[in-house]
Amino acid sequence: MSNTGWLVSMCRTASAGAVAGLPMAVFAAAGNGELPLSPGWGGLALTVVLVPVLIVAGLAYRRRLTKEAERLRAGREELATILDSVDACIYVKSADLRYQYINHKTAQSIGLPVDSILGKTDFDLFDTNMAADLRFNDQRVLQQGEKVVAEEGHVLATGDTIRTYLSIKLPLHAADGSIRALCGISTDVTEYRDIQESKYRLTYYDPLTGLPNRRLLLDRLGMVVKGTRRSERYAALLFIDLDDFKVVNETQGLYSGDRLLSRVARCLEEVVRESDTLARLGADEFVLLIHDLGLDVEQAAHAAERVAEKLLSQIVNARAEEDRLPTLPITASIGITLFADGDANVETAMRQADIALQQAKAAGGNTLRFFNAEMQADVMERVSLEADLHQALARDELCLHYQVQVDSRASVIGVEALIRWNHPKRGLVPPMLFIPLAEKNRLILPIGYWVLETACRQLAEWAKERDTESLYIAVNVSSVQFHQTDFVARVQHALEVTGADPARLVLEVTESLLMEDPQWVREIMLRLSKLGIRFALDDFGTGFSSLNYLKRLPLHGLKIDKSFVNGVLEDPVDAAIVNTTITLAESLGLEVTAEGVESEAQHRWLLEHGCQVFQGYYFGRPQARDNLKLMLAESFIPT
Ligand code: C2E
Ligand code: MG
Ligand code: MG
Repeated sequence: MSNTGWLVSMCRTASAGAVAGLPMAVFAAAGNGELPLSPGWGGLALTVVLVPVLIVAGLAYRRRLTKEAERLRAGREELATILDSVDACIYVKSADLRYQYINHKTAQSIGLPVDSILGKTDFDLFDTNMAADLRFNDQRVLQQGEKVVAEEGHVLATGDTIRTYLSIKLPLHAADGSIRALCGISTDVTEYRDIQESKYRLTYYDPLTGLPNRRLLLDRLGMVVKGTRRSERYAALLFIDLDDFKVVNETQGLYSGDRLLSRVARCLEEVVRESDTLARLGADEFVLLIHDLGLDVEQAAHAAERVAEKLLSQIVNARAEEDRLPTLPITASIGITLFADGDANVETAMRQADIALQQAKAAGGNTLRFFNAEMQADVMERVSLEADLHQALARDELCLHYQVQVDSRASVIGVEALIRWNHPKRGLVPPMLFIPLAEKNRLILPIGYWVLETACRQLAEWAKERDTESLYIAVNVSSVQFHQTDFVARVQHALEVTGADPARLVLEVTESLLMEDPQWVREIMLRLSKLGIRFALDDFGTGFSSLNYLKRLPLHGLKIDKSFVNGVLEDPVDAAIVNTTITLAESLGLEVTAEGVESEAQHRWLLEHGCQVFQGYYFGRPQARDNLKLMLAESFIPT
């Protein structure tokens, strides 16, 4: 365009512009004939004066426009550079949801060049479902003018991985206030969500089986407990524990154990409704939380029982063909508790299911038990007893009672030391109530050594008096004590510090001990025998001793269990067992003691059948030390 042409066009376009205001006013005034100059000279003069003015003004205006355009372009470029370098997708969509602007990141994440995206809709770019999802949010922005923050999935054109974007969508308004477009800013949060997801899985799921862990179970149990309080509908908590899983770990290795646990998890899952929660608490303990078992307690119990039975039969299938010991049976025990009332809480439900599980275990396993209140009372009793037992030794609450043993002439030849616990509130607690507890929590070790030392001290004391010097004391030894590596040293120590004669000490062991680790047991018995200590096998007949094995042990005698002695007169089977035991003991060269002799008739029968030593209420109940002394002095023993 020539300068003049550019000027004329500029004058035309600038009719509304402030810079062109002066020349336009001059032209307009001339056209109206309002100027005082004549058209000939006047026009020339006007031209001579005005043209340079107009040229100068026009040039200034042009410079200004160029500068303005320059500034705008620079601004736009700057903005584009910024938007393209941002690690987020930024785009503008028109009212009909076509892309009007996209930054580089958007093109990159869609996987197409910018030009092939502009003007397209999401339906042209993504699969229909995804596009419909995106449109839903877009329309909320366009129709309601609201800002939408949403998580959206995009499939890359380059592959089929869905990436997750956190999108903020805003309306863009026209000058009149109407919504003309929307602007979106989407950040790829796929990695962040993956990390969050794996963090969540680590926190709430068991890595081995993929099942919810204790934490998630407790969360869900908390919700179900709250729900049942409102609805009064029953829910059930089932504790599932594999029987003898330890054996699998020990015989087949931890790896096999882990594989078995995974298979058990899969088998259990097959029985479980999707709405229920099957969790792994740890080791071989699984828990099933069943909610909504209805309003009727009996129906709820039936339903829970049916599920438990199915679980028990499913677990059998967890045994895999490739197991090295395919004959090893896999069974489980299940404890069940139901809850529905306002008193239910997470802790109680967990405790009750666990108590019921212990009952199922105690019943021999491969079975189920429901929790009931008596069970709870028993357990509470045991727990409080156990807590007190920790203090018993320190508070000097334990004592030994002694029960006489007599020979065939009814002369007292020794005593059995029997422990008693003088509980400050409960009175005299019999050993059957606390010895099994002490064995479980290993308190039997200090208690057992205390018994040993007290009995040895008694022996040393009796050795000083004529009427007691020849008595022996039989002390019951738990297998837990026996398996301590320092057991021999401990016994020696007790003998040394008290000065007791080892030949007057008899250790009573049970058949179960002999079966645990025969080689080790034999070695210990031999070492102690060398010191002069004798061994008696207690409760004979209740275990499964191998006769061949008995022969190889340095045993001094057998004690026939009182349950058989009790029946010798009425029950021919008991009589036969006692008779056989006496014959067996004779043939093995062992002394035989009958315990639990309560009557003269029993005593006579046993004498006639060759029994040599007798112990029982008929000859005297277990006595405190001082009473025993009196009894011995008065020769209280029946003849
Ligand atoms: P045990 O060693 O078989 O002791 C015999 C049990 O039979 C004693 O029960 C005794 O009081 C009871 N008894 C004796 N004569 C008769 C009778 O004529 N009729 C009846 N019905 N019972 C009779 P106790 O004292 O209650 O001891 C029970 C068990 O506790 C003992 O059985 C023994 O296994 C264990 N025990 C006792 N003291 C100790 C101890 O110091 N250490 C260990 N580890 N266990 C002990
Ligand atoms: Mg005994
Ligand atoms: Mg016994």
